[in-house]
Amino acid sequence: MSRSFLQSSLLPVPHGFTTREGGVSEEPFASLNLGFAVGDVRERVVENHQRLAAELGVPLATLHTVKQVHGERVVEAGAGEGSEEPRPPEGEADGLWTDRPGHWVGVGTADCVPVLLVDPEGQRVAAVHSGWKGTEARIVARAVEALVARGSRPERLLAAVGPCIQRCCYVVSEELGERFTACFGPQVVVREGSQVRLDLSRAVRETLLGAGLLAERVDVLAPCTACDARRFFSHRRDAGRTGRHLNFVVHRFPAASGPIS
Ligand SMILES: [Zn+2]
Repeated sequence: MSRSFLQSSLLPVPHGFTTREGGVSEEPFASLNLGFAVGDVRERVVENHQRLAAELGVPLATLHTVKQVHGERVVEAGAGEGSEEPRPPEGEADGLWTDRPGHWVGVGTADCVPVLLVDPEGQRVAAVHSGWKGTEARIVARAVEALVARGSRPERLLAAVGPCIQRCCYVVSEELGERFTACFGPQVVVREGSQVRLDLSRAVRETLLGAGLLAERVDVLAPCTACDARRFFSHRRDAGRTGRHLNFVVHRFPAASGPIS
């Protein structure tokens, strides 16, 4: 049976970038829509979450999310057990992390760049939503800083940059192209004739390297959400009426890799 999510071979904990497959929602949210705020039937979105949790073997009650606002704020996942399943978003932010065993964090996307961070040494996990605004604001560097503030070492962090709208499809204005060139260099902007396209995942990767991660510890997944309508929701391709993927990482480290004292 095929899984309903993609993974990176780098990360040593359960994690995934969900696809459209394996849910109960109907078009335009078919089928594994994991976004509550997109106009889908709530009961179906709940059922989709339950299916994902069952596939992972992780309680839905320990999934933490945030109300995403295209900002640069990264927060620690809230304490306490929720009585609702899934628990409601925990405030406005675009990244969250946890060091609580058994808990998991996730961000929703439909074209924006999802980034999962894992500290196998300090045993912390983080999920980040990085659209063009978050990418320009370098939210992934804020996430690294949040982990480092708790003792993580940047050179020990592992990162997986998930499926997003890629340089083949992400046409933007000349003005935004110029801003990204100024911010990250010309290699993140593709110019063909009068068309300007952004390479967001490359800008995110370079931000992670700038924050101290090692190149071999940053995995960038290739799929383009706008190109592949069978597997992915795309806000741009579907003109706003579409579902959301959940990009999640579970704090469940192999027993052998306990914290190094
Ligand atoms: Zn594409």
